[in-house]
Amino acid sequence: METTGIQTLTHFIGGQNVEGQSGRFGDVFNPTTGEVIAKVPLATREETREAIAEAQAAFPAWRDVSVAKRAQVLLNFRNLLTQHLDELLAIICRESGKTIEDAKGEVTRGIESVDLAIGAPHLVKGEYSVNVGGNINAYSAKYPLGVVAAISPFNFPIMVPLAQTSMAVAVGNAVILKASEKVPMTALFISELWKKAGLPDGIWTVINGDKDAVNELLEHKAVKAISFVGSTPVAKYIYETGAKYGKRVTALGGGKNNMVVMPDADLEQVAEAFMGAAYGAASQRCMALSTIMPVGQETAERLVAILKQKVAALKVGSYEEADTDFGPVISAQAKEAMLAAIKKGEEEGVEIVCDGRELPIVNESKGFFIGPTLFDHVKPGMDVYEQEIFGPVRNIVRVETLDEAIQLINEHELGNGVTIFTNDGYASRKFTTEIDVGMVGVNVPIPIPVGYHNFAGFKDSRFGEGHMFGPDQARFFTKTKTVSERWPEAGSQMGSTFAFPSND
Ligand code: NAD
Repeated sequence: METTGIQTLTHFIGGQNVEGQSGRFGDVFNPTTGEVIAKVPLATREETREAIAEAQAAFPAWRDVSVAKRAQVLLNFRNLLTQHLDELLAIICRESGKTIEDAKGEVTRGIESVDLAIGAPHLVKGEYSVNVGGNINAYSAKYPLGVVAAISPFNFPIMVPLAQTSMAVAVGNAVILKASEKVPMTALFISELWKKAGLPDGIWTVINGDKDAVNELLEHKAVKAISFVGSTPVAKYIYETGAKYGKRVTALGGGKNNMVVMPDADLEQVAEAFMGAAYGAASQRCMALSTIMPVGQETAERLVAILKQKVAALKVGSYEEADTDFGPVISAQAKEAMLAAIKKGEEEGVEIVCDGRELPIVNESKGFFIGPTLFDHVKPGMDVYEQEIFGPVRNIVRVETLDEAIQLINEHELGNGVTIFTNDGYASRKFTTEIDVGMVGVNVPIPIPVGYHNFAGFKDSRFGEGHMFGPDQARFFTKTKTVSERWPEAGSQMGSTFAFPSND
């Protein structure tokens, strides 16, 4: 893929790059320089329907390929991802602004989903019972759904799409990815790798677009399941609309993730752990720590003194500089939103421990940089406490007891991730038992499960019952058919009964 000049991007339909017909384009930026690097076509409903038709036509043949052969294609794809790692990293960094180390981590975690999907033969095994009644054997088997769609956010250009789609492909579906219009280049690049891996045309589609493309996917009868990852208001809309049109939907939303710090914790270690988990990727992670919650005033005072120094020492800059801790936020609008959040915090009466507006790069660069910001004395009811802030503006919320921490966290409408730092086994057990959050850490700053465990938040961080990553993907992307069969001896009489079938 070309990496200089402004490219005009395409869709990927029927195994080909297909030019957009709508005449509508979105700008794709390099957030580090603020320059437009590509124009992404925004599909019409009609173009989306055509893509769905291609996928629908390709599905039956892929369904009929043996699961072992499908797994082989996944293995080829995995090998291609690692062979093309450098190109992938270059594209991800350029369109997202994240550091190379961070992008590597994302690719590695994305490959975990492919690894799990290579094990699909094991995950789609059915159940069999002999002689359930009158020479009848019964079995339950998993079948693919047909055409399924994934709608992705900008903040993980490869990890989230791989988590949403690898298993869907492996278990025999035709998959349509509506990539984020902010980072479409990674999705188009992996389309080429799918083709090289031997995936039949039409089984992997990338439709670029916005609301029009999404609404067509939500309403079209042939699309059987929707996997969405993005912000909570859109997740809710996707879930409600998808359900209205009879689809299976899992829609993951935003997070407001807390780190509870008990008085017995090693505060140096706590602060180190908080830095990366709170500010890494310019805090644009759904599992980023938004809030640190020291228990007791003494813990808070000691912690604030350590954090103040560490936050001030963070290096914000380009992914091309080796010592950069984090890069820009994704867009000029995202930077504006951060500046507005800091102003809002000031108006709400927080104490600003570190002010991200003061870094020279924030005012001098054309890139979308914003420095690390830390608020103290943040309280429930404040906007900066209640809302997800998707950028490097983080909170300290002081509490007196562990019970108070648990209560506050449980009352918040988001419940994606949470962690406790302590050496006290009782406190840890109480916390993991009582906390109403989907992914919980104990002395682990970002408790993202490995790819073979299920991933999803609680409350308004997830709508629908499915999980991302993990074996639940094999369930979500298949339907279970239960067959009862009897093969009577030639000439024997089956008889007829009008009573409901029973084993009496
Ligand atoms: P977003 O909700 O703005 O967009 C996500 C996708 O939805 C994009 O493909 C976008 O084109 C589409 N979309 C946006 N508005 C739409 C609308 N009105 N109708 C139909 N489709 C629409 O999210 P984003 O800004 O790309 O990503 C950041 C958000 O994603 C954050 O809130 C973050 O917490 C969340 N996120 C959650 C997880 C998780 O696992 N829970 C993981 C990553 C990101």
